[in-house]
Amino acid sequence: MIRVAQLEGEAEIFYSLQGEGVRTGEPAVFLRLAGCNMHCAWCDTKYSWGAGVELTEEDAAHRLLAFACRHFVITGGEPLLQSDSLEKLFSYLPPEAVIEIETNGTVLPPSSLVQRVNQWNVSPKLRHAGTGCAPYAEVLASFASLPGAWFKFVVRGEEDWGEVEALGLPPEKLLLMPCAADRESYRRELPIVSTMCLRHGVRLSPRLHIELWDKRPGC
Ligand code: SF4
Repeated sequence: MIRVAQLEGEAEIFYSLQGEGVRTGEPAVFLRLAGCNMHCAWCDTKYSWGAGVELTEEDAAHRLLAFACRHFVITGGEPLLQSDSLEKLFSYLPPEAVIEIETNGTVLPPSSLVQRVNQWNVSPKLRHAGTGCAPYAEVLASFASLPGAWFKFVVRGEEDWGEVEALGLPPEKLLLMPCAADRESYRRELPIVSTMCLRHGVRLSPRLHIELWDKRPGC
């Protein structure tokens, strides 16, 4: 069984545009899994921390495949807490399916997932999330050796750069994005983060879902 987050009483599986990272703007089917091992202060999906609803992996795959799109984004919560279930789920997806996993970078995936997943969107949490990622530096270094791994950091401003830099991750794999819960704060913070990206020579990630849909969850 796989535990899926529930939104308004429904298992959270939806078709939308990838809002962050190097595939921003690409249509994709999203599956949000339940449960997380971090409790970030500004988490915008706190409802995913609970038990969610249990589906068989086959049922979850049928729901994903009900959409015409064959690009899947597995998010959470922390999806890698359910690696065994993901391996089973992926066995029902066609080989041409493109799979991205959004992870907080605290749990390494088993080799079976490494072989199947096309892209890892690793989002380590800095101290301003109330958590911090320094204890997970070795895990993050292991992610850096995986093909298809990118690291996207929510930052508030220049004061956060030292914490990012200290991890020693490949600069060409880094993306910075604004800490914002709504469209108004996103538009205010974006120029600050753009300036950081130019100063440090790293990519900017938009948060397209906030720009398009403001605070609406599940989009
Ligand atoms: S890791 Fe992600 S899902 Fe988990 S608490 Fe932090 S922001 Fe929320």
